[in-house]
Order: sequence, then C-alpha cells, then structure tokens
Amino acid sequence: MKKQKSCDPGKADQSMPGRVLVIGAGFGGIAVALRMRAKGFEVTLVDRLQAIGGRAQVFERGGFRHDAGPTVITAPFLFDELFELFGERRSDHVEFRSLDPWYRFYFHGGRQFDYRRSIEDTNDEIRKFEPADVEGYAKLLKTSKAIFDVGFEKLADRPFHRVRTMLAQIPSLLRLKSYYSVAGIVNRHLKHPLLRQAFSIHPLLVGGNPFTTTSIYALIHYLERRWGVYFCMGGTGRLVSALHTLLLKAGVQVELGIDIAEITLEKGRATGAISESGRVFLADRVICNGDPPTVYAQMLPADGNRRKRLASDRMTQYSMGLFVLFFGTKRQYPKIAHHTIWMGPRYKELLADIFDKKILADDFSLYVHRPTATDDSFAPAGCDSFYVLCPVPNLRGKIDWDEKGPQLRDRIVAALSNTIMPDLENIISDDFWMTPEDFKTNYRSMHGAGFSIAPLFTQSAWFRYHNRDPHIPNLYFAAAGAHPGAGMPGVLCSAKVVEALIDEEIQESK
Ligand SMILES: Cc1cc2nc3c(=O)[nH]c(=O)nc-3n(C[C@H](O)[C@H](O)[C@H](O)COP(=O)(O)OP(=O)(O)OC[C@H]3O[C@@H](n4cnc5c(N)ncnc54)[C@H](O)[C@@H]3O)c2cc1C
Repeated sequence: MKKQKSCDPGKADQSMPGRVLVIGAGFGGIAVALRMRAKGFEVTLVDRLQAIGGRAQVFERGGFRHDAGPTVITAPFLFDELFELFGERRSDHVEFRSLDPWYRFYFHGGRQFDYRRSIEDTNDEIRKFEPADVEGYAKLLKTSKAIFDVGFEKLADRPFHRVRTMLAQIPSLLRLKSYYSVAGIVNRHLKHPLLRQAFSIHPLLVGGNPFTTTSIYALIHYLERRWGVYFCMGGTGRLVSALHTLLLKAGVQVELGIDIAEITLEKGRATGAISESGRVFLADRVICNGDPPTVYAQMLPADGNRRKRLASDRMTQYSMGLFVLFFGTKRQYPKIAHHTIWMGPRYKELLADIFDKKILADDFSLYVHRPTATDDSFAPAGCDSFYVLCPVPNLRGKIDWDEKGPQLRDRIVAALSNTIMPDLENIISDDFWMTPEDFKTNYRSMHGAGFSIAPLFTQSAWFRYHNRDPHIPNLYFAAAGAHPGAGMPGVLCSAKVVEALIDEEIQESK
C-alpha cells in the first residue's frame, strides 16, 4: 500500500484524484477516511452528531467523565497503522495501558474469577474452580488459535463480496466447525459451569448470543492473548480526539451536525448525498459508516433492489439492545476491577429472554466499567466514575423504555448495592442512562440494536452486508453491520477491506 508520509494535503498522491464522501464518523468511518486520504483522495467525513467517534461519544456530568461506548482495546496495531499512514506514532499521542486482570467476574452466589493477563495466573484462577479445566483451557486456546489463523489472518481484512471467495473458504470453515456456536466450542473444552459462562461471554461484546454466535468469534480468546487487553489513558474519547487531530492535519474535511437524508444516484452510480437541511455533497465514491440496514431502508431510492432487501430484513436477526447506566460515586470502590462482569442467576435462559423472546426479565447480568481503577482523571478526587451495561432486547421487543428505564435503573442500583457495591444507593451521583431508543435516535441504528445485525454464521462473511453494494459499484460500507463485523477491531478491518476494494478497482481501470 502506498503510504503518504506527510500530513500536508498538498503532498498527497495526485495520480489518483477523486472525491470521497464518508457518511458517519464512527471508528470505521474515521479509519476509512484516513486510509482514503493517505491515498490522495479529497475526503469529506460527515456525521449527524456534534462530535466524531460514533458510539464512542464522551459524556461529562457533575465532574464525572464517561466513555459512552467501547472501552476494551484489543489488537492495538490496528490503531497504530492509522497514525503510521501519515508517518506518525500512535504512542506519541495516546498511551494504551495494559490491564490485569483483564476481566473480573462475580458470579451469583458470591464466587469471583479473575481472567488474568498471564496464562499462569489465569490457570491458578481456573484451578480454584476445576483443576481439570486448566488442560481444557489450553485446548480452548489451541482451538481459538486455529480459528484465528483463518478467521482473523485470512478473512477479517479481505473483501468478501464475491460468492467464489466464500466457496473457497467453505472447507476451512467446515474444518473449524464454524457452524458450532461459541458456547458449543467452549463447553467441549471446559467442565465447570461457571467457567463455561466466563469463557463464552465474548460474543456479547459484539452483540451476539454465545449460544448462537458462530464459533468463528471464539478467535477473540487468542486475539486477546496475542496482543493483550488495554485501556486508553484519558479514555477512548482521548483516542477519538487524537484521531480527530490526525484527520484535520491530514486534510480531511470534517463536517459535524450533518444528517444525511439521501444518497444520490445517477445512471446506477452514487453521485454524493443530500443532508436533511438540503446541503448537497458531490462525490466520486460514497462510503457509508452508518448502519447498513438503515442506509438501505432510509437513504437509498425505493427501487427493486431496495424492496428486495427490505423484504429480506424481516428474516434478519439483530444484536441485542443495551441499557447503559452512567453514574459517579461519592466514595471509591477499590475492589471493583476496571472491567467487571456481574453474572446474574440465569445464563442461557436469560440470553433466550433477551435474544429470542425479547422480554425484559426480572433478572440480568451486567458489565461494570470502572475507569477510575486505572485513570483517576475520570472523577473528582476520592470518587469513582462508572458505567453499567445491561444487555436487553432490541426494539423488536415492545418495551416502553420511558416506563421501564427508571425501574431498571433502580433494580440495577439495588442489585449492586446488595452485592459488590455496598451503600451504592446512598452515594450514587449524577446518574443518567441510554436505552435502545437512544441508539436508534442518536446513531440511526436499526431497531436500536447495540451492534447492528447479529454475528450468526448465516450473517457473517459473504452473508453479511457486503463492503461494496452489489448494484451500485461506487457505494461502499465500512461499518459494524458489514463484513467482518462489530467491535473496534472489526470496523477497523472493515475500513481495510474498503481500501482493498478501491485498490483493486484502480488496478483494474489502469
Ligand atoms: C456500550 C458499548 C460498549 C462497547 N464496548 C466495546 C469494547 O469495549 N471494545 C470494542 O472493541 N467494541 C465495543 N463496542 C462495539 C463498538 O463500539 C462498535 O462496534 C463500533 O465502535 C462501531 O463502529 P462503527 O464504525 O460501525 O460506527 P458507529 O460507532 O456505529 O458510528 C456510526 C456513526 O454514523 C453516524 N450516522 C449514521 N447515519 C448517519 C447519517 N445518515 N448521516 C450522518 N451520520 C450518520 C452515527 O451518528 C454515528 O456517529 C461497544 C459498543 C457499545 C455500544
């Protein structure tokens, strides 16, 4: 790949001129804008929000800072690459701090399990539950590596829009049993029911039910071991700001508060887009970072192709919704690890309520983020900043969030108060929350899903939204709903796939 070693737009490679419009400034949109700019395109990046970052917004209330979305950084090299495109080093701008433990689990009944940075320490933790599972974990990691070698190394950043690419991969996918679920693979290796839960939660980080998500996602175990688990000091928001500076230095035109209403087409090609307020953006290529189902349902003309897509959408399964409770505390909870998972009494049955029955159950499981465990800049001295993420049904479940939101807030605070955060009810401060309705409104996420379409086998690789529209040759997708999928590593890879497609086109046109 040709690298532009300077942030001076005047030095861009002029042999590949053209205007690129990127709609949406989530991580996929930011990454693809930088990649296109490094190739010499004139790039405009627009977002409907007032800040870039997409789901990685930052909220400040009462002296407490909160990252609104992603906090767990894996595969850091994917961020490093973006700075290197312009001859810069990511580490000169933001520090990624290695965490230990990676996650702390509190199970219903009071047992605690630390998933640690070193395998030896993790084995010591496993031994406390089931000594035989130490060997099982080694086997799980071996299986995960085999999946990683294909799923990450060969598939994640390669175009997957041709059926022949999928056919070529079918033998590997069958050999790796990708028709199994992640829980299926984990349960084959581990015996203890609580360890089975702890080691199968990964699909939830990308919006999937561990019992139905394709086992390709079991590669996350090895991915974490390969590069580690990090927190960006200052928060994910600081990483977003560093990328914003890089975009501006590189000469990307960033326009915020622009809600794109329609992608304009002429003779079967995209010509740009029009915003809700009527502003016209002309472009030779349009790259969507917004949710692909929303783009097809609301931003493209209602022709036969769109109608077909909308009809098939009824069969599409979406990731779960998220109820995210943000708050500060007037005292600290030093025993709460940076990434804490609080498991409720039910696992498989609760997931079925969320994903299949789409009902709001009386019980729940929670992810608790305590950035002040690593970085005290998130709260006033002696205080903690938290967000608690509770998986809930997406908006296909008919839940009245105006009514249920405050109730769920109270139930979560009471459950934490009674277990790992005594007295929380009395020392909680400046709390507010987001529901799936906010995901729909703020990010234009279809059905308010937290992570776009679910990571099922039948919705992965060639079956996922392609990175290039099959009928509009200059319309691309770098987004969680497109190949390879959600999560920061997923969308950063999605940007690489779009770059590869455009490279291919340029080669073909020569
Ligand atoms: C609470 C939460 C926690 C998470 N934790 C982690 C984690 O720890 N680690 C991890 O790797 N991943 C995590 N994820 C997943 C990860 O954040 C997402 O998968 C990823 O950030 C999605 O990026 P994206 O590029 O698809 O864009 P998005 O973040 O979805 O952003 C898309 C942007 O496009 C804009 N947009 C949409 N339509 C239009 C339009 N018509 N006009 C203009 N703008 C438009 C939206 O406003 C939005 O800003 C988490 C997600 C959530 C919600």
